[in-house]
Amino acid sequence: MSFEIKEKDLLGRIGKLKTKSGSVETPLLFPVINPNIQLVSPRRLKEDFGFEAVITNAYILKKRYQDKPIQQSLHKFIDFDGTIMTDSGAYQILVYGNVEVNQTEIVEYQERIGSDIATILDIPTGWKIDKDQATTTVQETLRRAKDFFKIKTRNDILWVGPIQGGRHLDLVAKSAVETGKLPFQIHALGSPTEVMESYRFDVLVDMIMTAKINLPIDRPLHLFGAGHPIMFSLAIALGCDSFDSAAYALYAKENRYMTENGTWRLNELDYFPCQCPKCMNETPKKVAEKPSKERETFLAEHNLYVCIAELKRIKQAIRDGRLWEHLEMRAHTHPALLTALKKLRNYEDFIEKQSPTVKTSGLFFFSSHDIVRPEIVHHRKLLTTRYSPPKEAKILVLVPQTRTKPFHKAIEFQRINQALNHLTKEVLNSVHVSFYAAPFGVIPLELDEVYPLSQHEISLPLDKETVDYVAKQVADYLQNSQYKRILLLNDSENWKNNIRKACRKTCLAKGIQLETIETKPKRSKNILTRIEMILKKNPSE
Ligand SMILES: [Zn+2]
Repeated sequence: MSFEIKEKDLLGRIGKLKTKSGSVETPLLFPVINPNIQLVSPRRLKEDFGFEAVITNAYILKKRYQDKPIQQSLHKFIDFDGTIMTDSGAYQILVYGNVEVNQTEIVEYQERIGSDIATILDIPTGWKIDKDQATTTVQETLRRAKDFFKIKTRNDILWVGPIQGGRHLDLVAKSAVETGKLPFQIHALGSPTEVMESYRFDVLVDMIMTAKINLPIDRPLHLFGAGHPIMFSLAIALGCDSFDSAAYALYAKENRYMTENGTWRLNELDYFPCQCPKCMNETPKKVAEKPSKERETFLAEHNLYVCIAELKRIKQAIRDGRLWEHLEMRAHTHPALLTALKKLRNYEDFIEKQSPTVKTSGLFFFSSHDIVRPEIVHHRKLLTTRYSPPKEAKILVLVPQTRTKPFHKAIEFQRINQALNHLTKEVLNSVHVSFYAAPFGVIPLELDEVYPLSQHEISLPLDKETVDYVAKQVADYLQNSQYKRILLLNDSENWKNNIRKACRKTCLAKGIQLETIETKPKRSKNILTRIEMILKKNPSE
């Protein structure tokens, strides 16, 4: 196996990809090398910036330099001793229509120049294209993908099987299923460049997720043309293991300055929000006055530093189990990214199944966007499918969450516990305590120390969607349980009347008794007496 997964968070992973020129760590960014004009030399990309891999275009090499890269070997020709990926000319097809090369020629050429990772001659679907045309691109790419295995001769090259279909998700699914059956080592999702340029990150989510769900999960997935650090965390969280970027250079040409939070035009900046070796001793004004070539190189190099810094932050976030927090932070840099984050709700089951649910760090819960986090989905699934309350439990006491965690150690709960301790053993045995708590919903007392039910921080006051979510979890829990009576300690200060309404509705439908006690702090003494009284009552009264 050429790909080994070391760490995971969400669908993101840190992996080791073995190529014939050495192993590289994913998530990986391949800067695009244009063999005709190159602002930053490939050698410097590795030595000064730390890029272990680059991508270049086999079609351009063949057309312009013919046999020269074969005679010198590709690595010598472009002067890069790391991993070199080649694209086949598919992008040129997308931009210029047909290319003057066939698949056999371009496969053979990539083998002869000695690419480490190489691509078949797929037909990109593109963005502004109807369903019929999109179907043709998928069918033709598939036909070539199957044919390719009769053409290839080298086994030490990792071959990329591209997924097409564009925004036609049924076609993406078909393309992924069929291509996934073929023994490619890597897959790549085509045509997202235009989607990203029009800021349709929500469409991108659908495209990536459709590919991911239908591809073999253990193979690396490359995203073509995803070169802006603003969306690295989104792509990585959805399971893209690598991408390539020409953007660092294209943006530089247009005087655009990348940051992990968005793009600025050089003349809009009064200060550089960056401490990379380029920006450290410069001001935007001084850079703007430089001759154009020098200015372009400055911006390209800064853009590369920003990309690699963001990639490192994301890797550390995966190690720390905080990729969600990182993604959420980036999602707030542009409404289109937040729209994309909201889209993850449609894929919460798949993400939950593939994500680690136990981590070394606690969760930060900011708002209802976070309800789709795998840890929360996981708790909900466990509670409905694998959990049953103690057998003797007849009365459920529902207690609100406290600031202190685990909840059973909070002073508020200790007081309630005192009341419970006044009960006879028989009554006490029939009582089961559970908490209602955001964001998880219902937390049975005996589970409140299980990760991450105590290991999280939440922002207060809760937003309406979070309150509604917890109220629904409470209702579902009651619906599926066998309790005879419910005693709700209603914290209307934090929950308004939502939990009470959910309980009342469900209890009424099930014909079980509901008692409610308001937990206003002033009446705490009163509360204890009332709890005791209610619990001591004979259920038939
Ligand atoms: Zn900089």
